[in-house]
Amino acid sequence: MHLLADPTQMRAWSRAERARGRRIGFVPTMGFLHEGHLRLVDRARERADRVVMSIFVNPLQFGAGEDWATYPRDVERDKQLASERGVDGLFLPDAKAMYPADPLVRVHPGPMADGLEGAARPGHFAGVLTVVAKLFHLVEPDIAVFGRKDFQQAMLVRRMVDDLNFGLEIDIAPTVRELDGLALSSRNAYLHGDERRAALALSRALRAVEQAWRGGEADPGPLARRGLDVLRAPGVAPEYLALVDEQMRPVVRVDARTVVLVAAKVGKTRLIDNVVLGEGVASDTSVRA
Ligand code: AMP
Repeated sequence: MHLLADPTQMRAWSRAERARGRRIGFVPTMGFLHEGHLRLVDRARERADRVVMSIFVNPLQFGAGEDWATYPRDVERDKQLASERGVDGLFLPDAKAMYPADPLVRVHPGPMADGLEGAARPGHFAGVLTVVAKLFHLVEPDIAVFGRKDFQQAMLVRRMVDDLNFGLEIDIAPTVRELDGLALSSRNAYLHGDERRAALALSRALRAVEQAWRGGEADPGPLARRGLDVLRAPGVAPEYLALVDEQMRPVVRVDARTVVLVAAKVGKTRLIDNVVLGEGVASDTSVRA
């Protein structure tokens, strides 16, 4: 595995590989790797000859008072996991290399970022799309793989690529969960004691909505109330439960393409999860973490 520390090196490596006719698959992450990230590597591997992973905890997408400084980091362990999983190039820039100066020009995400995570975290998606655009320019991948776990992010990246004619394909991979339903997340490392069990309220709420929908309810109002009832569990502070389409617009009639998104705080830890109703929570990948 090649370790690529700075943007110039990254681009040179990628261009050399492409000059040899190799397709490049790209998996951007913030590190503290888990099986969810590594499944994205597997998917990239299926569709490309070389897999690049980036690990960069992007300061631009964290608000004041959020967890940028304390975000879990373990670069040595990440290197080992990435290499064992067959990553060919690991891009590990530091903040100075990515932002020698505060970027004055940024990507404006538009109305798909107004609600949900965008409303809860002002400026978050401008930060995400700006760094993703930079990474795409440095890696020049043929395909990039994102997790459905961050549904709004994945839809925004796909839309940016379409609207701004980035010449690559975006692949979106199903959410990887623990056997009891908890979606894997680097932030799960913050959960202590009873919080780990309380966090199951998110996937339970999604399942409850799914079940009610399969039972014939197609009105978003009652479905959202059903989900919120389950989300309001001891130790859990719900932030939102929404039923939306792929453009993040609230739906008036629920169908198989409708996505249910939840966010809640468990203790101090903010967690998100979602399900595409037609696919169901059970169709996501389950692993023993
Ligand atoms: P992060 O390191 O949290 O920024 O995530 C990097 C990429 O991994 C994003 O595309 C995420 O959507 C994806 N990802 C994170 N957790 C999961 C999961 N449990 N299942 C699938 N993909 C995930």
